[in-house]
Amino acid sequence: MKPADRMSQIPPYLFARIDEKKAEAKAKGLDIVDLGIGDPDLPTPDFIVDAMAEAIRNPQNHNYPPYNGTPAFREAVARWYQSRFGVTVDPNRDVLAIVGSKEGIYHSFFAFLNPGDPAILPDPGYPVYKVATLLAGGVPYPVKVSEETNYEIDLSAIPDDIAQKSPMMFLNYPNNPTGAVASDAFLQKVVDFGNQHNILICMDNAYSEVCYDGYKPRSILEFKGAKDCAIEFHSLSKTFNMTGWRVGMVVGNPDAIQVMSRLKSNVDSGIFKAIQDTAIVALDNYKSVVDANNKIYQERRDILVNGLNELGWKVKSPKATFYIWAKTPNGMGSEAFTMDLLDKTGILVVPGNGYGEYGDGYFRMSITTSVERLREAVKRFKTYPILQTA
Ligand SMILES: *Cc1c(COP(=O)(O)O)cnc(C)c1O
Repeated sequence: MKPADRMSQIPPYLFARIDEKKAEAKAKGLDIVDLGIGDPDLPTPDFIVDAMAEAIRNPQNHNYPPYNGTPAFREAVARWYQSRFGVTVDPNRDVLAIVGSKEGIYHSFFAFLNPGDPAILPDPGYPVYKVATLLAGGVPYPVKVSEETNYEIDLSAIPDDIAQKSPMMFLNYPNNPTGAVASDAFLQKVVDFGNQHNILICMDNAYSEVCYDGYKPRSILEFKGAKDCAIEFHSLSKTFNMTGWRVGMVVGNPDAIQVMSRLKSNVDSGIFKAIQDTAIVALDNYKSVVDANNKIYQERRDILVNGLNELGWKVKSPKATFYIWAKTPNGMGSEAFTMDLLDKTGILVVPGNGYGEYGDGYFRMSITTSVERLREAVKRFKTYPILQTA
């Protein structure tokens, strides 16, 4: 067996590597406090599970689903956009069901990049953007995002020739891994940039519902001209504690949606119709789930952020997402710090450079674990020697 050459471009998935480290530490008998992967620990709400129990018994759900998603699912997505964002979308032309947003995001690069084309990507950023670019034969054009610019992409730093050649740009707010949120002015600028340079703006909005302190994330489709140049990826994963269910949607410019649909209909055969029926029930009742989840996450966030700050760390409290992004202490590199922290305390965090070279010097903590474990984390952080942060 000899893997294809393209496989040499891609590392094992970041969390697959982290799982290995975790297994090694566990084998040594260490009790791990896992602040690693962002996978909701809360179960899928009962009313959603009940809807699935019913939907799975419907024999009409047992054959191949329609490629674009069931009409009822696409209508529910349109209702949700109207209710949540005040945005009107056409369920027949502007909406496509995807097998979780990771799948849709991955395939977007195959739908819109020619070999050699640059894809404009935030660095640090969700690792799938870069890997999908490479596998599609494109060239990642990473744009540094940093604390100094509120993790907003500096559009003026993108050279003209890249803006000319690049068919697509990704952005992700609320952001994984930094927890950053985007201002309205910035999102409008991105849309204008997309229209000006004929760049497809791809907004990854997986965390649109995980938010605190009264802050409500926007849809890019709320901004003037977005329908002409933007698509937006959503997922039920983080919103409804449904990461295992694999259902999401991409919404926006109908021509782009059609291209994605043509690609995907040749690749996968859609999402189990029982899951789509269940997703409708979830979307139509999003408010209660979102409010309950965010109350829980907010309490956890405060325990970890306040606990660390009392110990002399300088950690910012995110307005959205379940991630806390922090500078490594003592000027350490990300990998060295995360290994050292795991060895000395059994706390598992994610190295910032796993999200791109500009993530180095940072680490990410996920609050998808109980209040008790977060208190335990703070207790253990107390034993970790820090000379200086920031
Ligand atoms: C979790 C996540 C996704 C993917 O979620 P799915 O479960 O595939 O829907 C996409 N983008 C970001 C930034 C994420 O953190």
